[in-house]
Amino acid sequence: WSKETIAVVTGGNRGIGFEISRQLADHGVTVILTSRDASVGVESIKVLQEGGLQDVACHQLDILDNSSINQFSEWLKENYGGLDILVNNAGVNFNFGSDNSVENANLVIETNYYGTKRMIQAMVPLMKPSSPGGRIVNVSSRLGRLNGKRNRLVNEALREQLSDVESLTEEQIDGMVTTFLQQVEDGSWESGGWPPTFTDYSVSKLGVNTYTRFMAKKFSERPDGEKIYINSYCPGWVKTALTGYAGGVSVEDGADTGVWLSLLPDQAISGKFFAERREIKF
Ligand code: NDP
Repeated sequence: WSKETIAVVTGGNRGIGFEISRQLADHGVTVILTSRDASVGVESIKVLQEGGLQDVACHQLDILDNSSINQFSEWLKENYGGLDILVNNAGVNFNFGSDNSVENANLVIETNYYGTKRMIQAMVPLMKPSSPGGRIVNVSSRLGRLNGKRNRLVNEALREQLSDVESLTEEQIDGMVTTFLQQVEDGSWESGGWPPTFTDYSVSKLGVNTYTRFMAKKFSERPDGEKIYINSYCPGWVKTALTGYAGGVSVEDGADTGVWLSLLPDQAISGKFFAERREIKF
């Protein structure tokens, strides 16, 4: 990896995304820190530059907004010719307050699941053909697992359907989140067999993890020289705004596995779920 390696980080202005940006830049990679508020992005890279990291740039990016994604894609292509590493870090969670509204459930799914998908779809055509292969890292959560110990998809039929990687389709994953949102809308979600804790957030990350597997299979069919490896990971319960700074894990440790996955050597690890640099059950 060198400064010719281009890494894009979403939600890079604070929390885990900022720290992933810092650590990647520290490894000598050129980092494009994106943030939905352009001026906050400028301030964020100033902090990195003052810390001695010069190969950093920033750009506005709101993963809910297609025109923002298009403008960013154009700029990236024109100025850097594309990218090698995409870290989908931007995300929201409203489960700490008492505001479990229909509106918030929609926003969580729209940001965490569809926003991540939108970025993958926009960035894949811009991935540079490179010898180790492109890398996509999705910052996800242990809460969003099919077979998690404490939090899992209780609905057995759906669990079986989404577990079958060979026959898994994008429509099935979209269908899962659509069904969830319909049930939230009509008030029947509690009997839907969804993960019991932080349900909308968990469903959004279940979508991310399942989509990671689905895309890994699709990417494996790409010819040599155009390979892309995609994985997701849980950073742990991290001290950031998202947890009300109540998490027990530092941002440095929370970013670590994401950076490690971004820079994995040519081992063709793809479609897996990690925590603390180890593959864990999905
Ligand atoms: P923060 O709330 O500190 O940061 C979230 C980041 O996402 C911010 O930069 C925020 O931007 C950005 N963001 C939110 N919505 C959008 C959007 N529409 N477009 C672009 N950026 C957006 O949280 P964390 O650092 O903790 O979270 C980072 C990731 O880690 C998330 O995906 C989260 O789900 C995941 N995660 C975190 C855990 C934790 O314990 N903290 C545990 C498991 C997973 P802005 O500043 O403009 O709001």
